[in-house]
Amino acid sequence: MEYNIAVVKGDGIGPEIVTEAMQVLDKVGERFGHTFHYQEVLAGGCSIDANGIPLTEETIEICKNADSVLLGAVGGPKWDEVPSEKRPEKALLGLRSALGLFVNLRPAQMHKALSDACPIKPEIIGDGFDILVCRELTGDVYFGRHYRRESDKGWGETGADDMNYSVYEVERIGRRAFEMAMKRNKKVCSVDKANVLETSRVWRETMHRIKDEYPEVAYSDMYVDNCAMQLVRNPSQFDVIVTGNLFGDILSDEASMITGSIGMLPSASMNESGKGMYEPIHGSAPDIAGKGIANPIATILSCAMMLRYSFGLMAEADAVENAVEAVLDAGHRTADIAAPGEKALSTSEMGALIRAQL
Ligand code: NAD
Repeated sequence: MEYNIAVVKGDGIGPEIVTEAMQVLDKVGERFGHTFHYQEVLAGGCSIDANGIPLTEETIEICKNADSVLLGAVGGPKWDEVPSEKRPEKALLGLRSALGLFVNLRPAQMHKALSDACPIKPEIIGDGFDILVCRELTGDVYFGRHYRRESDKGWGETGADDMNYSVYEVERIGRRAFEMAMKRNKKVCSVDKANVLETSRVWRETMHRIKDEYPEVAYSDMYVDNCAMQLVRNPSQFDVIVTGNLFGDILSDEASMITGSIGMLPSASMNESGKGMYEPIHGSAPDIAGKGIANPIATILSCAMMLRYSFGLMAEADAVENAVEAVLDAGHRTADIAAPGEKALSTSEMGALIRAQL
């Protein structure tokens, strides 16, 4: 099969890590008989430098027409002073909205070989954990009306943000979460604040209605404050966590951090037709950009998610994940995950070792 991928290398370490990931995809293509065509486009700081804006119509069109989008990272100190509407990060919001990406999937998995990096005690982690946080991306308080008014209590100027969730939006993300769980360990935990918020009561009622469509999946509800505690108390109880935009923003970062290694974590944002934008969760790491020492694994695992979720290439996705696992098991490390005194590989050495496993 042939696949067209729009590639946004972006800023900082973006070009270094995406180059390795593209070579991994090419190796997958060679082994499994696929061809990946790449069209490179600018977005973020490099687009500001070239075009004066972080995201052009041309980039949007190419990304819309591609089968999938691979993104490195955008931003950096060079563009810190530009006005907020022109910041590199606006490119991400613009792409998400142009592509209609409504769900963000973030796996947080502890690789056994890296258990020393996990900040949680070994007796709590046990055999490790493998969580998929499914965060709604286009609704909630982030997209409600933001305004100021006089306080009802006579306390002066007051900021206000409207929080909304429609039944339609909850059904859409809820079904996606159940479908993901069916391909994993068949558990969904829906996180809300239904003891306080009306938005959450609509969320919970809707989730309860659709859970009956997936009788094989074990369903539970959890309040967000409890979930924040449970993630560090007993992370292995979770399989798929589904939640709104605000709670998901916070919980997905927490779930990532308990793995202990930011350079290892991939993500996918998808629309209704299954098109996705795949990117590492970390930023452009300006402190190490250009040194050839960034960890390419998060981006390579993002490609595995692309193969699985956008192209339906399960064996190919497994092959990439197994190759990463094998390289880690053999003790190879980039600087960010190496123990003190341990030999650290360069970005390209790590990429080459992973390709050699394929
Ligand atoms: P960051 O994730 O770029 O870096 C945090 C720390 O982690 C740094 O010490 C960095 O060196 C390290 N790190 C990150 N990725 C690594 C990798 N693959 N290998 C080894 N080490 C790695 O976060 P930050 O420093 O807060 O942000 C830097 C810039 O990136 C900012 O301009 C920010 O706005 C932007 N940013 C972009 C995205 C994105 O494009 N999706 C996400 C977050 C931050």
